[in-house]
Amino acid sequence: MEQAKSLVAELLSRDVDTNRIDCGFTRLRNQMDVEEAEALDKAIELIKIDNGSGKAKVYSCQWLTSVLNKHGYKISSSTISRHISKRCSCE
Ligand SMILES: [Zn+2]
Repeated sequence: MEQAKSLVAELLSRDVDTNRIDCGFTRLRNQMDVEEAEALDKAIELIKIDNGSGKAKVYSCQWLTSVLNKHGYKISSSTISRHISKRCSCE
C-alpha cells in the first residue's frame, strides 16, 4: 500500500488520474450504497430506452429528478440529462 502523499508532493505533482472531474450525477451516485447505485443504473437504462415523448414518457429525467430529490439527493434534471446524453464532464 502506498502512503498518502504529503501536501507538498500533491500540490507540486498533479496526477492526470485525479485531474478528471466527475459530473454531479456521478458524484451523487458515488455517495449511494451498492443497491441504490444499481437501481439508479437501471433507472438510467429505462430512461434511455423509453421512446415516448412529452407526457407519453414514463421514465424521464424529470421523473428521476423528483424521485432523487424526494429521497434527499439534490440534483437537477439538466445534470441528469447531460449525463445521459454524455455531455457531462465524466464522459
Ligand atoms: Zn456524467
